Amino acid sequence: MLDYQAILEEIHQSLNSVKDTGEVASYIPELANVPKEKFGIHLQLITGENFSVGDASEKLSIQSISKVLSLTKAFQLVGNHLWERMDVEPSGNPFNHLSLLELENGIPRNPLINSGAIVVADILLSNLKNPKKDFLDFVRNLAHDNTISFNEKVAESERLNGYNNYAAANLLKSYGNLHNNVEDVLDFYFHQCSIMMDCRQLTNAFFVYANKGKCLKNIQHLTASQVKRINAIMLTCGFYDEAGEFAFEVGLPGKSGVGGGIVALLPHCFTIATWAPALNPQGNSYLGMKALEHFTTKTKLSIF
Ligand code: GLU
Repeated sequence: MLDYQAILEEIHQSLNSVKDTGEVASYIPELANVPKEKFGIHLQLITGENFSVGDASEKLSIQSISKVLSLTKAFQLVGNHLWERMDVEPSGNPFNHLSLLELENGIPRNPLINSGAIVVADILLSNLKNPKKDFLDFVRNLAHDNTISFNEKVAESERLNGYNNYAAANLLKSYGNLHNNVEDVLDFYFHQCSIMMDCRQLTNAFFVYANKGKCLKNIQHLTASQVKRINAIMLTCGFYDEAGEFAFEVGLPGKSGVGGGIVALLPHCFTIATWAPALNPQGNSYLGMKALEHFTTKTKLSIF
């Protein structure tokens, strides 16, 4: 068997001294104030073995990584009706890009860009009794961890600075693709983005996509076909306008967030999460992408 701990340590050490890693997200103070030097990696094998290095047990703001989890809950609730309200094509645009292409006839290009995730939030609002609580419980269940929580300060800052998201939600509303009111949908969306998790918790939650729809507790949350679709969406749409680059360099389905987190997985094999807050110009964690590239190169484990 490969010595995964040694591989993670080698990668961490070789990248830790890199100076020019980009800038942390600065659109809200809670992200702008995160120390740039944080760097952690956690690997979980499908067999349940865990390997960690660096700041892997410190909580980060998961931000857009939450879009995969909300999509999963919505897929569970409404099945293929989801695709009546959004498409599954990569957008080739930054996460907050607002163009008619991204929103043709009120239909977002995919569920992992903001307009798509806002429609997903709307679906959850229509189908959950206590949307925020029920969604948080769902994430806690997936990750098998009741300590996972919203960060109210982050959610409030997102609201105060969320002009793009208000614009997207209003546009969706004008096309009839938002059934609840804009304020309520965005309140939910800002809260899902504010969830705090560490790298290990992220690999726990994403275990379901590597394990044919069964979570760590062996409960079936998704069908094999739903898992295939979500993994395909992560591969083609999970990295803003850099999904091609991520597939090319790393070769795994995954999702990044502007908090500097990335989660990726190899079906039937492992889930891996990295955290390094400094972002490249495309909004993806610079060191996270490099670490994953080194990992799949060293281990020769990728979907290709
Ligand atoms: N909360 C961010 C926004 O919607 C999400 C950013 C991200 O991680 O892509 O503006």
